[in-house]
Amino acid sequence: MRYHCFVEALEKLKTTLSKILLLEAQKGFENNAVIGGLEKFAQSWEPMAREAGVDERTLRRVVDLMKSYPDADLLGRRNALAAIGSLLHLSNMDALPQPKQAPLPIAGKTAKKASPAKSKMQIDHAVSGSESVKEPKRPKRTKTSKISASATNSIARSLASDQVEGLDAPVSVIRGLGDKQARNLEKLGIYQVRDLLYHFPRRYVDYSQLKPIAQLGFGEEVTIVASVQNTQLLPLRSGKKMVEAVVSDQTGALRLLWFNQEWVLRSLRKDQLLSISGRVESFMGRPVIYHPDYESIERETLNTNRIVPVYPLTALVTQKWLRRIIFNTSKYWTNKINDYMPKAVLDRTEAIDLGEALRQIHFPDDLASLSQAQRRLAFDEVFLLQLGVMRQKMNWEFLESRAYQVSDSWLQERIDSLPYQLTQAQQKAVTEIRNDLAKPHPMNRLLQGDVGSGKTVVAVLGLSIVIENGAQGALMAPTSILAEQHYRTIDKLLTEESGTSKALLQPGQVRLLTGDTSKSERKEISQGLKDGSVKLLIGTHALIEDPVIFNDLQMIVVDEQHRFGVEQRAALRAKGDNPHLLVMTATPIPRSLQLTIFGDLEVSVMDEMPKGRLPVSTHVAYPSDRSRIYRMIEKQVQEGYQAFIIYPLVEQGENEDSKAAVEEQERLQRDIFPNLRVGLVHGRLKPAEKDAVMLAFQKKEYDILVSTSVVEVGVDIPHATVMVIEGANRFGLAQLHQFRGRVGRGSAQAYCYLIPDSGDAAENERLQVMTQTNNGFILAEKDLEQRGPGDFLGTRQAGFTDLKLAKLTNLPMLQSAREIAADLLDADPDLKRTENKALQKAVENFWPSIYGVGDVS
Ligand code: ADP
Ligand code: MG
Repeated sequence: MRYHCFVEALEKLKTTLSKILLLEAQKGFENNAVIGGLEKFAQSWEPMAREAGVDERTLRRVVDLMKSYPDADLLGRRNALAAIGSLLHLSNMDALPQPKQAPLPIAGKTAKKASPAKSKMQIDHAVSGSESVKEPKRPKRTKTSKISASATNSIARSLASDQVEGLDAPVSVIRGLGDKQARNLEKLGIYQVRDLLYHFPRRYVDYSQLKPIAQLGFGEEVTIVASVQNTQLLPLRSGKKMVEAVVSDQTGALRLLWFNQEWVLRSLRKDQLLSISGRVESFMGRPVIYHPDYESIERETLNTNRIVPVYPLTALVTQKWLRRIIFNTSKYWTNKINDYMPKAVLDRTEAIDLGEALRQIHFPDDLASLSQAQRRLAFDEVFLLQLGVMRQKMNWEFLESRAYQVSDSWLQERIDSLPYQLTQAQQKAVTEIRNDLAKPHPMNRLLQGDVGSGKTVVAVLGLSIVIENGAQGALMAPTSILAEQHYRTIDKLLTEESGTSKALLQPGQVRLLTGDTSKSERKEISQGLKDGSVKLLIGTHALIEDPVIFNDLQMIVVDEQHRFGVEQRAALRAKGDNPHLLVMTATPIPRSLQLTIFGDLEVSVMDEMPKGRLPVSTHVAYPSDRSRIYRMIEKQVQEGYQAFIIYPLVEQGENEDSKAAVEEQERLQRDIFPNLRVGLVHGRLKPAEKDAVMLAFQKKEYDILVSTSVVEVGVDIPHATVMVIEGANRFGLAQLHQFRGRVGRGSAQAYCYLIPDSGDAAENERLQVMTQTNNGFILAEKDLEQRGPGDFLGTRQAGFTDLKLAKLTNLPMLQSAREIAADLLDADPDLKRTENKALQKAVENFWPSIYGVGDVS
């Protein structure tokens, strides 16, 4: 009975809302369909919607969209309405009109709005009951993560076995733990005794803060203990089902509701005692918790422990059992641990002892002790990481190399001879590179700049300095089409006179070497490199595969650095004598990662585009918009432009994904664009075949290019104005931003359409950020927050993802750890002093790879 009420209230709410939203669209998205605007309307709508049973997650999203509605531009507003429509499954919302003028996103305005990286420490996260089962859902990854379970315990490794004997022992030595259970624990990355100590709780339940049901307030995050009275399965009009459980304590009753999770019903028994965590909502004035986190408990737990850990589990490992094992382990081992951290460091960060931290993190005396333990252990993670990274950087700085200097007037003349004015960002990067080259240590610099920001010319100016001094340079690109493109541009810049300035080089002194280079030409190049007449060699990995010998290679540039492995860069470097190295990337790197993953490199950031580029007009589109987009492509082609249509990597593997692209290309050519030329490039093609297609597209032999994500690499297609990305929800924002950078190179307005293939409103909403900003850094920060650092690692060590408590987004902690580490290494670079020896050992254990390989660039 109640549920009909519930459903009817909801239907009414939805009808009203969809009327308002449609009116708003008809009136041109001017925020005048309701008095006071949608942001005001949100205030009264929120309680009504809650009352009508809209789930809290959706509710909050919709309210956020309404509240930020006045800040969005017209397109953003249209997208917001569409998003609300899809979040609430409103009818009639899929045919929203487009706003009349197509406004451009204003980067400055939206940049302000973007939320700053979370600086909140992980501590809040784990405090009792504040986190429920509704953990933020991660978007599917397009690449499978490289992180393996066995690699997840490097922080545990930092605890050296000579500090406490037996920590290295396999867990099976623990009494009451057999081989079979040991195998189950392996799935959690637990192999050795130490790993148990570092298997940190996912959250805690604080039984000292229990509230009786009668005292619960709406909107509160709570943990209660109550027993199950009855359960039932309720059908909803939508065909879905809802599980209802009524629980009670001595003071009152509370309802728990789950949508579409019938299995919950089987996990509940009458009179079972549950610990229940979640947010109290009001339904018809009575308390209810939607999708609570719950756990069966026994009465004695309540009496013996106040704050109880909740561990991540795996099949066949139960919470109760793991709690007991870890309790015993921690009790026995933690007071035998000698802290490796020098006292001076502990004092400076006001951190507690390691053994104490490892005890409190599992079974805290109170919340204050817990938070101290979390802080200490998080600090250790970033501190050990910083020490490793800084040591790596020092290793570079110990190397010697030749220094190169040029006069201001010489450099200015080179800059003046360019066909355009350098942007401020380019100027700055050039100065930084020039200063590096003037030092007697090899440069080790990363140049980051969005696609189209003009990295090439910056690299060329750096190379020019070295060449001017009589030495040689090399530039390596990941594909031959890119290498050729670089060759054409750079050859022109260096060997042609311009205005009053003389050319730096003679024709023939810049050469191109790829897999296609003929034998006779190779011979010529090889001769020229040996006798030093060839000054700059541009090419693909043929540069390292070919047995070429340079006369005096002094500077190396690697474009799209993430495409190359550590060994490939090392192989190229080995062709010179500690040459200067510049690696380039279009992937924006959040500040926190610059301090960590990329902490051994100097970083130049170019956050400015050459003048006159129009931002790409970006839209989140829905499948129903496709035909309109196709007509738009036709029109653009008639005007002489070209379009990309990208299909995602499907998780099953490259073959599947290629198949989708192949089929789509056929369909588009046959059914949609019979009069246009539709090209196809996908992952199964050989590199030469890929290049051939890209080249044909560049020469406008195709109007439309259907592609999997292989076009990511920086090929210049100046006439491309449309970028359609199917399955856009599967990509990270930074990667979508890279795709988008492929269009809009010319002066014409370019468009980007993101078409998600998922009905998941949250996933699709994530894409809205793309419509709001053109700033790659903001997008990268979001990616880091939402997807973790995986997307940024490239060929970097996977060890960085091992952090368990520390957040790579916790900038203040990173910075403080960095300062302390710097001071420590200043005073004792090899950590040889007695008081630092144990720490040195911990660093080695934490990050063994640093001490083996000499290169993480
Ligand atoms: P990316 O950073 O993506 O490698 P490129 O170096 O390929 O960018 O430069 C993109 C385009 O912009 C090239 O056509 C280049 O000639 C041009 N360009 C570079 N710097 C400037 C500038 N300061 N003003 C105008 N155009 C520029
Ligand atoms: Mg480039």
